[in-house]
Amino acid sequence: MDRKTIDNIVWWIPLKKLRNSVREYLLEINNLNNKLEQINNKVNIIESTIYNNYMDLYGKIKKLTPQGYIDFIDIDIARHCNLNCYSCNHFSQLAKEEYYDIEIFENDIKRLYGLSNGLIKKFHILGGEPLLNINCKDYFYVVRKYFKYSSIWLITNGILLPKQDESFWLSCKKNNVEIHPTKYPIKIDWDNIKRICSNYNVVLSFFNNEHVLKESVKTILNLDGTSNVFDNFINCYLANNCLNLHNGKLFSCGLPANINAFNNHFSMNIKVTEQDYIDIYKAKDYNEILQFLAKPMPFCRYCDITKWHGIGKWETSKRNIEEYTNNN
Ligand code: SF4
Ligand code: SF4
Repeated sequence: MDRKTIDNIVWWIPLKKLRNSVREYLLEINNLNNKLEQINNKVNIIESTIYNNYMDLYGKIKKLTPQGYIDFIDIDIARHCNLNCYSCNHFSQLAKEEYYDIEIFENDIKRLYGLSNGLIKKFHILGGEPLLNINCKDYFYVVRKYFKYSSIWLITNGILLPKQDESFWLSCKKNNVEIHPTKYPIKIDWDNIKRICSNYNVVLSFFNNEHVLKESVKTILNLDGTSNVFDNFINCYLANNCLNLHNGKLFSCGLPANINAFNNHFSMNIKVTEQDYIDIYKAKDYNEILQFLAKPMPFCRYCDITKWHGIGKWETSKRNIEEYTNNN
C-alpha cells in the first residue's frame, strides 16, 4: 500500500487528530508488511539454495554408491544412424553400418538374467537408429524371454516407424514394448504413428518434451586425456546412469562403448582399457557389477564435462572434429 492509498482510506475521518493517528498506524503496518515480505523472499532463496545443494550432493553420492539394482541399460542394436545430428554423443553420425549380433545379444541378456535374477528395471533398445536393424522386433522377444517383468523401451528417431510391418507391431504388443521416440525438428507424420500405436495397443510417449524444440548439445572431449576423472564422474549426468551394454561389456555410460566410431572417422586413438567396463562373463555376481559401476572410469579423463552445452537449436553434423572440441 502506498501513501496515496492510505490517504484514500482515511480521508473521511472527521477529527484531524484521529485521522493522523489512523494514517500513522496504517503506515506502520504497511512498513512491517514490506519488511515481512523481504524476509520471506530471503527465506525462499535460502530454502531453494539448500534444496539445490542437497539435490546436487545427493546426485553425487548416488553415483558413488553401489545401487541395489540396475535402473536401466542402453543397448545399441545398430551403431549407425539415418539422422545426422551435430555432436551426437554415441558418435552414430560417424559410425559405419554395424549391428549387435543377435546370438551374442541373447547370450548377454541370458547372462545378465543369471546374474541379476531379473532385477533390472528397464531396457532401452536404441542406437544409432535401432530400426535400421531389420531384425529389431526379434531383440524384443529375446529380452522378454528372460526378463518377464522389466520394462522394454524402443528409443528411436521415428523416421522408420511408418515403414514397419505387422510383425514389428505384433512383437511390440506381445512383448509389451513401449515406443519412446525422440522428437527432432524433421518432417514426420506423428498423427499417423500415434494412430498405428493405438490400433495395436502399443504405448507411445515421447522421450523428450514433444512441445519443446530439440536442441543439440555439444559433447566436448579432452583429446589430451588430461581431465580430472573424479570431478568428471561425479558431475556427469551420464555416469552410473546411462549404462551401455555391448558384446558382453557393460559400461557406466555410452561414450567409451561407442568411441571406436570417433577414432575411426578422425584417425584418433582414444583408448578404452579393461578398467573402463566390466565383462559380465568375468563378474562373479550382481554385487560386483553394481560396485564397478559406482567407480570413476579412466576413460572419464577424455571428457570435458563442464564445457558441454546446448547450442540453442538442433543442427545437422558436418562430421568435423570441431563438433567435439572447444575450438569454436
Ligand atoms: S542423436 Fe540420435 S538420432 Fe541423432 S545421430 Fe545420434 S543416434 Fe542418431
Ligand atoms: S566417460 Fe565419464 S565423464 Fe565422460 S560421459 Fe562417461 S561418465 Fe561422463
